[in-house]
Amino acid sequence: MSTNKQTAKIAVLDETLIRKIAAGEVIERPASVIKELVENALDAGAHRVHVEVMAGGRQSLTVSDDGEGMSREDARLSVERHATSKLRSPSDLFAIQTLGFRGEALASIGAVSRLSIETRCAEESAGTRIVVEGGIQRELSSVARDVGTRVAVRNLFFNTPARRKFLKPIETEARYIAQVVTQLAAAHPEVGFEVVSQERLSLSLLPGERRDRAGELLDIAAEGLLAGEYEEAGIRVEVLLGGPAFCRKTRSRQFLLVRGRPVYSRALNQAVYRGYGGLLPSETHPPFAMWIDLDPRQIDVNVHPTKKEIRLADERLVAQAVARAVRQALEMPETAGFTYAPLQPSYQPLQLAEGTAVFAPAGESSGGDDQMALHLLAPALPQFGIPGEAGEAVRRGDLEGPVRVLQVHDKYLLLQLQDGIAVIDQHVAHERIRFEEALDRFEAEGAPSQQLLMPLTIHLNPVELEAARQAEALLGRLGFGIREFGAGTLLIDAIPAGLRNWQEGALLYKLIDELIQEKEIRDSLQEAMAASYACHTSIRAGERLVQSEMQELVERLLKAREPFVCPHGRPIIVKLSLRELDKLFGRA
Ligand code: ADP
Ligand code: MG
Repeated sequence: MSTNKQTAKIAVLDETLIRKIAAGEVIERPASVIKELVENALDAGAHRVHVEVMAGGRQSLTVSDDGEGMSREDARLSVERHATSKLRSPSDLFAIQTLGFRGEALASIGAVSRLSIETRCAEESAGTRIVVEGGIQRELSSVARDVGTRVAVRNLFFNTPARRKFLKPIETEARYIAQVVTQLAAAHPEVGFEVVSQERLSLSLLPGERRDRAGELLDIAAEGLLAGEYEEAGIRVEVLLGGPAFCRKTRSRQFLLVRGRPVYSRALNQAVYRGYGGLLPSETHPPFAMWIDLDPRQIDVNVHPTKKEIRLADERLVAQAVARAVRQALEMPETAGFTYAPLQPSYQPLQLAEGTAVFAPAGESSGGDDQMALHLLAPALPQFGIPGEAGEAVRRGDLEGPVRVLQVHDKYLLLQLQDGIAVIDQHVAHERIRFEEALDRFEAEGAPSQQLLMPLTIHLNPVELEAARQAEALLGRLGFGIREFGAGTLLIDAIPAGLRNWQEGALLYKLIDELIQEKEIRDSLQEAMAASYACHTSIRAGERLVQSEMQELVERLLKAREPFVCPHGRPIIVKLSLRELDKLFGRA
């Protein structure tokens, strides 16, 4: 028997390595550290939580609270694995499932970073400072400080390069952090929150009632929120939401709290949309904060502990309660199969600097129909050579010479080619021109801009603010003059010269909203920004053009680097050759 050899293969992992492995399960990214630390602060009964982040938390992140703090002995124990002061009943499966195993967050964070804790409890006159680096305690000393705790995490994942490599760009990590904090803030309206990112205040929330907090997070005046409540079979739903006028292109204003904890549930989310029914403007997402209380045993236990997604035993029943609460808030009758016209037009208020509200359209009206028409045209007429389908049917050479242009149906331009005719979609043509123009401006300094007579302020939630900060330089290069002006407020004092569709600032909301989404799909921030800018500032279908505008459009299109396909992949020019025309008329 060679037991010796076999056992020799088994090595006892040292404690630091075990911690590193455990950390990998709890700590995925800076935002997960923030989540753990803020939850600890909340558990400690904090009235105020202050978060500071450098480089999206990759460089450092700090969470300070005015909670009960820790004694020296507790502080020492807090960084040990499975050390917890919190007695939790094992039957509260929900707590275990959503929070992961208890008592290892600080130990795990300490294993993969340089962690320092400064804390004091009311019973002790001196505070304690403890430093852990890569799982090894480096310091235990006294500090003078107030009751409460400050936890600082530097060089996260310094000793786990693989994990570090998987981090997203700084702005994205900062956005995740903003999401985590706002979600926890939605769960705890009674606590004040502050987030400082890159030494700039990006979120400041005063303690208040649910309605105040929801108003702040949804960026809707508290008294403008619609409230709904529904209770059935032990399921209690309370919702505060924005009407159709406040629906946006992004989901960043959706807060779902189950038993006081932020969660994600596809089924419950869908139920909210069902509740809006026909009131929801197409391709928009409703802003809402929803608190659900139910028997914890209703919550599915087979869900990954680090994921926020939950499943419910009787999902249908809860979803039904959710939809009913939403309908109640929107004051819609229960009868199904009815579609209601929007109660208010799709307008969203914008604040002018001096406080006057102006109204600008919230959604985009054009686009849909044209897209459909082209879509139908494409398969029906393949012989007409739609670029990208039947090859390079229109060539640059075709478009040379004098341009004689005719506008039809206020959306297409007809022009004669050497060997046929071309139909140009005026919107996508202009979009292409704008797209390339934006990309060019990103590379150069000094785009022409025009000063606004009256500077405009717009208010952004932290997620949008991160996106805006990320886009700041690019917007500047396009010709926008933008400055931060207090937490979440931007001051705009200049816009690109000759800008179309500025809509008193609504354009900027759209650009930021879209950036949050497009960035995920596009290769680069530049492209995402250029595509969205081009789309919203170009000539629309339905706009009557004068001859000189048409000439200019066609001439500029001819100079474009890629005149045949718009940034979203739609054809710009459709050609009908003389040969094909002749054939149609029996001349061939
Ligand atoms: P858990 O929160 O599951 O107990 P942690 O590793 O997050 O595990 O924290 C360990 C212990 O450290 C907590 O149980 C608590 O006693 C103490 N602790 C951590 N953060 C704070 C804080 N901000 N204020 C007071 N005590 C804290
Ligand atoms: Mg904890």
